[in-house]
Amino acid sequence: MLEKLSSGLKNALRKITKAGHIDEKLIDELTSDIKRTLLAADVDVKLADSLIEKIKERSLKEKPKPGITPKEHVVKIVYEELVNIVGKKSEFSLKPGKIIFVGLYGSGKTTSIGKLARYYQKRGLKPALIGCDVHRPAAMDQLYQLASQIHAPCYAPQNVTDPIEISRAGIEKFKKYDILIFDASGRSSLDKELAEELKELGEFIEPEEVILTIPADLGQAAGEQAEGFKELVGITAIFLTKMDGTARGGGAITSCAITGAPIKFLGIGEKLDAIEIFDPERFISRLIGFGDLQALMEKAKEAEFKPETAQKIVSGKFTMDDFFEQIKSIQKMGPMKSVLDMVPGFSSMKLPKGVDVSKQEEKMKKWSFIIQSMTKEEKEDPSIINASRINRIAKGSGSSESEVRELIKTYEQMKKMMKMLSGKRGMFGKLAKRFKGFKL
Ligand code: GDP
Ligand code: MG
Repeated sequence: MLEKLSSGLKNALRKITKAGHIDEKLIDELTSDIKRTLLAADVDVKLADSLIEKIKERSLKEKPKPGITPKEHVVKIVYEELVNIVGKKSEFSLKPGKIIFVGLYGSGKTTSIGKLARYYQKRGLKPALIGCDVHRPAAMDQLYQLASQIHAPCYAPQNVTDPIEISRAGIEKFKKYDILIFDASGRSSLDKELAEELKELGEFIEPEEVILTIPADLGQAAGEQAEGFKELVGITAIFLTKMDGTARGGGAITSCAITGAPIKFLGIGEKLDAIEIFDPERFISRLIGFGDLQALMEKAKEAEFKPETAQKIVSGKFTMDDFFEQIKSIQKMGPMKSVLDMVPGFSSMKLPKGVDVSKQEEKMKKWSFIIQSMTKEEKEDPSIINASRINRIAKGSGSSESEVRELIKTYEQMKKMMKMLSGKRGMFGKLAKRFKGFKL
């Protein structure tokens, strides 16, 4: 997502970290690099200008706080000013409630409803979907299909033409559910009639959230659409979709931020787990390459990553079973690379070969057989597995000796990597400290 914007900003900042000392010329270079990068991401030119003015002024006038080097100081200013233009942090609660989704045709409304519903399900809440798009019969079908994919109940009748009637029945039907998500009518453009319908629906439902889906590929034009819906319908949040497929996301985010309606979610792919909670600080720190421990933690939690495992590794008790558990959670986390992207300093790190098994179902099956053929002792301390043991394990699990060796080798590599990542003196600890200092 936003690779060009990210690499542009990283390159600009790299000049600072490489430089001998900070002077006006360097700040000029930095800010013009930043401006060029922002314009390429479709950020409004006036906004970019005022941003770089602020960066210049603060970099040259403000004194770094004690403990912060002049270079870190400039990086911190760039970070803070970028955070300012992407909006304020918004609260996102997991409390039960009602949510209406609004948005134009094709903006990703129904897909995003599925993503959010799934997000709730993963956190132990029970969502139900209600279809109020009475103008497009296919919309009801689409919602049903989506609901069945995520095993959520859905009420979206084809033969009722009044969205308020549907809502009333839906609310009655799904009393026992925690979150009711309403798919409201769309249109190809926001007109008075649609605004009227949405308003009436809102007054009836009294939702906690009215979420507008806007495709990020609109670039700057996203802001106008957000403004329009805000004025005519009233919205509490924006779900910016299709962030994965566009270079214009920077313009979409900043133009939405100006309207004052907070962006709460990003859609970063067609699949139902391609959702991200938008947090300006995290977003920018990741964009400029300072990683994001918090996002990683959240994602890791989702994949049932167990922090105790890290403890075990440090204390040297990382068993073969722990290894297998770990690999399984990595599989659930999705491509390991996107997880590593969130850790400061790791975005360019190469994984040991074999550890990224996210797409290797077959191998996982094989490995589980091999591990089952190990004795308790072997699983607890795989270093005792010698050639004759390898031969026995291979026979017992119906695999070749080289397959057993490969598993043991991957285990060892993983153990090494985990050791490096964890522990106060490990890279993880050091970088965590640096990240903290950075936020001073
Ligand atoms: P609706 O008409 O507003 O309900 O939009 P849909 O949910 O039907 O989505 C329209 C198209 O956009 C579909 O092909 C979706 O798969 C796609 N889409 C939605 N969200 C995203 C996203 O975040 N990334 C990508 N790449 N495609 C998306
Ligand atoms: Mg739809």
